[in-house]
Amino acid sequence: MSDIIQLLPDHVANQIAAGEVVQRPASVVKELLENAIDAGATNIKLLIKDAGKTLVQVIDDGKGMSTTDARMSFERHATSKIQKAEDLFNLNTKGFRGEALASIAAIAHVELKTKPTDEELGTCIKIEGSKIVSQEFVSTGKGTSLAVKNLFYNIPARRNFLKSDTVETRHIIDEFQRVALAHSDISFLLHHNNNEVYHLKSGNLRQRIVAVFGTKMNEKLVPIDEKTDIVAIEGFVAKPEFSKRKRGEQFFFVNNRFIKSSYLNHAVVSAFDGLLEQGAHPSYFLYLTVPANTIDINIHPTKTEIKFDNEKALYAMLRATVKHSLGQYNVAPVLDFNRDAGLDTPYAFKSDAKPGAVPKISVDPDFNPFREEHQKEMNFPFKREKQTESWESLYTSVDSTLEQQNASLFEHQQEEKTQKTFQIQRKYVMSLIKSGVVLINQSLAHQRVLYEQFLESITVKEANSQQLLFPVKISFSSAEIEMIYTIKTELENAGFSFDEFTKDSVTIKGIPVSVTESKITIILEELLNDINLEVPDASFSHFDVMAKSFAKTLSIKTGTLLSEREQESLVNNLFSCKEPTVSPFGKATFKTLTLNQIDNLFNS
Ligand code: ADP
Ligand code: MG
Repeated sequence: MSDIIQLLPDHVANQIAAGEVVQRPASVVKELLENAIDAGATNIKLLIKDAGKTLVQVIDDGKGMSTTDARMSFERHATSKIQKAEDLFNLNTKGFRGEALASIAAIAHVELKTKPTDEELGTCIKIEGSKIVSQEFVSTGKGTSLAVKNLFYNIPARRNFLKSDTVETRHIIDEFQRVALAHSDISFLLHHNNNEVYHLKSGNLRQRIVAVFGTKMNEKLVPIDEKTDIVAIEGFVAKPEFSKRKRGEQFFFVNNRFIKSSYLNHAVVSAFDGLLEQGAHPSYFLYLTVPANTIDINIHPTKTEIKFDNEKALYAMLRATVKHSLGQYNVAPVLDFNRDAGLDTPYAFKSDAKPGAVPKISVDPDFNPFREEHQKEMNFPFKREKQTESWESLYTSVDSTLEQQNASLFEHQQEEKTQKTFQIQRKYVMSLIKSGVVLINQSLAHQRVLYEQFLESITVKEANSQQLLFPVKISFSSAEIEMIYTIKTELENAGFSFDEFTKDSVTIKGIPVSVTESKITIILEELLNDINLEVPDASFSHFDVMAKSFAKTLSIKTGTLLSEREQESLVNNLFSCKEPTVSPFGKATFKTLTLNQIDNLFNS
């Protein structure tokens, strides 16, 4: 047999390697920002076009490259940062693999301009798909500018795989924030489509966190500061009352490198023991400094996980330190996400009051367990007088029912004013049907109702908007404003109308009819949260995420007392839905219990 094994040509090998290093525009952002930091820059600009699909450019004032180095930098395994294997265990730079530029140049149009301090002229190199297109001397400032255009232009499959601009922008902002938070001494600028998203001046840690997340962050921060032989821990945790329902602002940095560690996260969360409501996640910004030779960064290609020598000791130290700081700042154990749930006007009556506000939803007759009942009026297995909470009367009713059980169980009792629904533990609505009972989870059922209403009003683009008497100005971080801006049209379809966007606020002059003014902030905050955390698949649509998010935020919660009318309205609205059986998140909204099943309970 003849020999068949060959070495891959460089540009093919680079393309394959690129698959590891570059998943999306945000990966390019990370690599270029890290290179700028390794080059000792004090000012870094990030310019983005079309969520990075058209352009990712980083301009720094770092040490620059000589012409030969500029050329070399695009070779695979070309790095100035390590020389021998041992160096891997004493890393003080972000990069060390020497793969990023080679990979990026294999799958994009790249233009590098660079000049070291002591040179007169700089170098400009253009590369397309690993091929050098031109190289010339240019006059340029000190430092490096690297522009990456048309990412994945030669790998259509990868390019098509990219998500919506909103999602890709979010990833970019995530990377930018991580790098910016790790280096408060460097000033950063982020422009997206020529709009300034961030201008972060160099400053201390607190200033940087507040600049990134908005001024409202300032009052939330509890400082952490502890030094031992194995680790120095600095940074902030957010007071428990500002914890989030989703993991959002959780940042670990080890030697100024952003990392993920569920182990260390556990240490912090356990320090909050007893201070957080169930399901709440604390926010934190924790900076660990350990001797470079006690960590191994080499275990993950995109380097967000690292291995510690003294993991257990770190855990204990971190937990104790956070606990101590929380104690010192006298953080009281109060937290109640649902505190105002009972004060809100329940949904359905608003829509009742404003006919036309409720989108028409076609009823699927095959789905309605109440159908027969509606045809024949109500049937009740036991007689009841008017609604009463007293248990004695329940027994009376049951007794009287039992007497005539066989005869009248399924007969009409039209003449009586009887109650059709009951609320159980402010959580379930029980409704009597001919064959038994339906148990409806009030919160999940309402999610379904709202979801279908929103979906219809968003997609049919007949938003039912109410103008606010006084426009409301809400402050957000600039990243959040950027996100709201990218989904502005969808929000308008949903019934929002906007007045003015500034860098850190938005003025709202109209809202969907089903939203109360007091809920505007929370519903937008939750929506941003949901979009951020969405790991979108191919079927991802903003409409769906938005309708789900609104439904979840605005639905009546467990613990809300419902009047009889509200209960009935919920039941009717639910069974007018297209898909009444499941919540928008796939949970069952109701269960039926047939008389047979109930009988069986007593026969076993
Ligand atoms: P690594 O960062 O792992 O060394 P890269 O492919 O990212 O690998 O970069 C290759 C080399 O190019 C770096 O080691 C560095 O010497 C040089 N380089 C890259 N970006 C810059 C920059 N912005 N300023 C100065 N030198 C740079
Ligand atoms: Mg690098």
